[in-house]
Amino acid sequence: MPSDDTAIVLFSGGQDSATCLAWALNRYAHVETLGFAYGQRHAIELECRETLRRAMISARPDWQDRLGEDHTLDLSVLGQISDTALTREAAIEMNENGLPSTFVPGRNLLFLSFAATLAVRRNARHIVTGVCETDYSGYPDCRDDTIKALQVALNLGMETRLVLHTPLMWLDKAETWRLAERIGGSALVKLINRESHSCYLGDRTHLHEWGYGCGACPACDLRAKGWSSYVST
Ligand code: ZN
Repeated sequence: MPSDDTAIVLFSGGQDSATCLAWALNRYAHVETLGFAYGQRHAIELECRETLRRAMISARPDWQDRLGEDHTLDLSVLGQISDTALTREAAIEMNENGLPSTFVPGRNLLFLSFAATLAVRRNARHIVTGVCETDYSGYPDCRDDTIKALQVALNLGMETRLVLHTPLMWLDKAETWRLAERIGGSALVKLINRESHSCYLGDRTHLHEWGYGCGACPACDLRAKGWSSYVST
């Protein structure tokens, strides 16, 4: 039987998934993390994951017993079959179909399907993902309806009762910082600011008040705007 106390967090090492990890650690007795290597240009985000995990339990020693295994799945096949600005040296721009060139078709659908398979093996009832409809970068697989439909499809197809949680679905980036502050105070905010990674180009050499990044790509832009709105309110 799946455990109601166990959650798998889709953990890329970005601001959103780091906040989701804190959210889950605050809520469940046992939390495991899951990351994907899919040939992303900003694979540096994967290196931030272990640093973030360690920093979180040193900031909150009471989470130490809750934080379980880390899993990394090799989905390099996704990078091989998708032609996008996240997986190729291509310009980050809007495509003719109205979707940004950073959109990797099927990415979140595949991630959540693999997370569900892992959840069954790990006896976890809960899957937590940081997708967000509020400033979702135009990614259709981040929409609330997509996630709800996928939950139904996965449970029908696997005879399970898994729950897909999206604690950030209706939050903007400033509200996501506020959520982190509510969970772990300014120490958690500072930790996520410094150790999480958002920049699409993988830049961790330029430090801004909102964290590391190139400062010019759409992910940096979103993060900078969210931070400035968070600190000004
Ligand atoms: Zn950037």
